[in-house]
Amino acid sequence: MGAWEENVRRVTPYTPGEQPRRQDVIKLNTNENPYPPAPGVRRILEGFDTDSLRLYPDPAAASLKDALAEACGVKPEQVFVGVGSDDVLAMAFLTFFNSEKPIVFPDITYSFYPVWAEEFRIPYEVRSLDGEFHVVKEDYYGENGGVIFPNPNAPTGLAMDLEDVEDIVRRNPDVVVIVDEAYVDFGAESALPLVEKYENLLVVQTFSKSRSMAGMRIGYAVGSPKLIRYLEDVKYSFNSYTMSRLALECGTEAVKDRAYFEETVSRIVQTRESAKKILRDMGFLCTDSMANFLFVTHPEHRAEELFLALKDAGIFVRYFSSPRIDNYLRITVGTDAQMEALYRFLERYLNRGKSV
Ligand code: PMP
Repeated sequence: MGAWEENVRRVTPYTPGEQPRRQDVIKLNTNENPYPPAPGVRRILEGFDTDSLRLYPDPAAASLKDALAEACGVKPEQVFVGVGSDDVLAMAFLTFFNSEKPIVFPDITYSFYPVWAEEFRIPYEVRSLDGEFHVVKEDYYGENGGVIFPNPNAPTGLAMDLEDVEDIVRRNPDVVVIVDEAYVDFGAESALPLVEKYENLLVVQTFSKSRSMAGMRIGYAVGSPKLIRYLEDVKYSFNSYTMSRLALECGTEAVKDRAYFEETVSRIVQTRESAKKILRDMGFLCTDSMANFLFVTHPEHRAEELFLALKDAGIFVRYFSSPRIDNYLRITVGTDAQMEALYRFLERYLNRGKSV
């Protein structure tokens, strides 16, 4: 090893779900939305003034922040935007988790949290979910350097009541509490109304799931003006033009189409609820997910085998070989037709060798 390597900041990177090059797969592995973005987004792209790309985008991202502020019922100075919520969360870790005390998050959760903590040298401790994968709110009381959890949690899909979320925030007045609401629109209660009451609460959301725009990379955070100012100072110290002109315009347009958003979200929720029933009828145990994915295990079939068999059949789902969840599959809710193909395959697979 060269001496220079001793001083390299080394990280074990987060492993994103596979993005297969083949187009002919049924892709239920990265919690993308199976429906297209709002129709206005296409209109923006078709009419986009390419000449405008000569110019830098608005560093303040004012149009997008104004639209989000209106949609969230807050002031524009309470909104921060970034390149997907991963970017927003990374900035928030760097800005707010700067204590000697460990930050805390669940043992089973979004696997990017420990990666940022290690990258930024933030001490952390995990708190175990209970035997049924619920967050135990009391575990987040007491001294710490900050708190973060998703609601609904990933990959379990389980949501916490707003009262419990508020309880965690109320019990942690001396640190910043981040609620990662990547999946909140599919059935959990948002903590947005609490930002007026708690100066130290940051709520993070994304366009990647409920707004069908994972490829555009837009995420945002809502909090007190003070919290947002601190975040912006850190962000502008990295790169002041993080949002492209295209993303700003498309994002602004997407937020304005509330009706389309509600319609596609409700289709996904319906498909999810029928999927729970169908998979349970096949013998799967299935958490009561409030997200756009299901988290399932089968008492007679190893999840890893199922994952590989599904992949062979061109149906991609997500498998995590981590403790406690290594016999589970996370299946993104697709269109009804995609889910039908999944059910047909599973039925055949589970009944192999059984006489009919
Ligand atoms: N939070 C959670 C809990 C997630 O599952 C994801 C998706 N991988 C994200 C944040 C980040 O999503 P994005 O960067 O696409 O907004």
